[in-house]
Amino acid sequence: MNILVINSGSSSLKYQLIDMADDRVMASGLIERIGEEMGSITQKSNPDKWPDAKSVEHLPIANHREAMGLMVAKLTGEEWGVIDSLCDIDAVGHRVVQGGESFSAPVLVDADVVETIRDNIPLAPLHAANLVGIEAALELFPGTPNVTVFDTEFHQTMPPKAFMYPVPTDLYEDLKIRKYGFHGTSHKYVTKEAAAFLGKSVDEVDLITAHLGNGCSMAAVKNGRCVDTTMGLTPLAGLMMGTRSGDVDPALFPFIVKHRNMSVLEVDTMLNKQSGLLGISGLNDMRDVHAAREKGNEKAQLAFEMFAYRVKAQIGSYLAVLGRADAVVFTAGIGENDAFVRAAACEGLEGLGIRLSPERNETRAPGVRRISTDDSPVDMLVIPTNEELEIAHATKALVDG
Ligand code: AMP
Repeated sequence: MNILVINSGSSSLKYQLIDMADDRVMASGLIERIGEEMGSITQKSNPDKWPDAKSVEHLPIANHREAMGLMVAKLTGEEWGVIDSLCDIDAVGHRVVQGGESFSAPVLVDADVVETIRDNIPLAPLHAANLVGIEAALELFPGTPNVTVFDTEFHQTMPPKAFMYPVPTDLYEDLKIRKYGFHGTSHKYVTKEAAAFLGKSVDEVDLITAHLGNGCSMAAVKNGRCVDTTMGLTPLAGLMMGTRSGDVDPALFPFIVKHRNMSVLEVDTMLNKQSGLLGISGLNDMRDVHAAREKGNEKAQLAFEMFAYRVKAQIGSYLAVLGRADAVVFTAGIGENDAFVRAAACEGLEGLGIRLSPERNETRAPGVRRISTDDSPVDMLVIPTNEELEIAHATKALVDG
């Protein structure tokens, strides 16, 4: 069975075609600047075999429907093709950012599902493109099962005491304002991987999962189910991120509006796009932050310390929430690669049962690995995330019934 995984953004389309017999990526691609004067399509075919080979084409791409046609042409083409025709795609899995309270599991797309996703758009207006991608795929692949997997669904198991905000309840009743959480597909994937590594079934593991990439979030997982997470109504909340502030005093909003003479929208943009590592150091990529602090840049040093401090504080908070943990899991760009951040985030947590092995932490290796000492009461694991594979597995499970 071949499954096509689609992640449709406002002006981009990412795709992966996966052979479910062995979870092999047959091709992966990125279409960018859809709707602009000049767009582009980049595809890697058989990336396991030829990691460095890619096809890049520049051409105007009017809309997502056209982008998908281009994707199919590339997937079936003579030079870069990996399948003969559309019939070789058995199902399509879509990443959808916001499922609201309507979806706590992946679903097969039908007209009702499309309407429910549309109803949820006010909760995540920047991600309306997810639906555009689904509609384009329904048109292009009539008769092929389409499945949606939601970033929010893993977090739907949070109890009200964790997901409600202490504000007047009519805001929840009328506007559905509550904590939803995001990166759920990643947290779910690493939860399953951690359980397998620890030799436990998923419903037996208690974990603190830290997805630290451009966007950052953590989750407290009890018996394999999410009981709390750091992102909120939107992905702005919680940890410090590349360009997002994470949690700040909400009173900062009117204060800035008043004293900087900015609109609410401008403050929102500032907190989403000009804050986090970028706001403190002028650099949004953690690798650049390290390079700068190694040269003595004090703002870069501060950005790094703030970032790691927030992760540490959250580990402590979620240990209290869970009462115990089998493991702390690090994943995504920073979580998987950055030994400095992991070490700083866990420094001094020995009293809480978290004992890092500096040597293991600094040794790079593929796959799941333990970076805690053998006698650490709480394991520390680095687990490469794979959201596309999780979406493909969820799609296959639904299609197989
Ligand atoms: P992601 O959103 O998961 O792709 O993560 C992107 C972020 O991971 C980048 O902004 C970098 O800050 C960080 N990153 C990626 N590779 C490394 C690395 N080798 N060392 C430190 N940080 C890294």
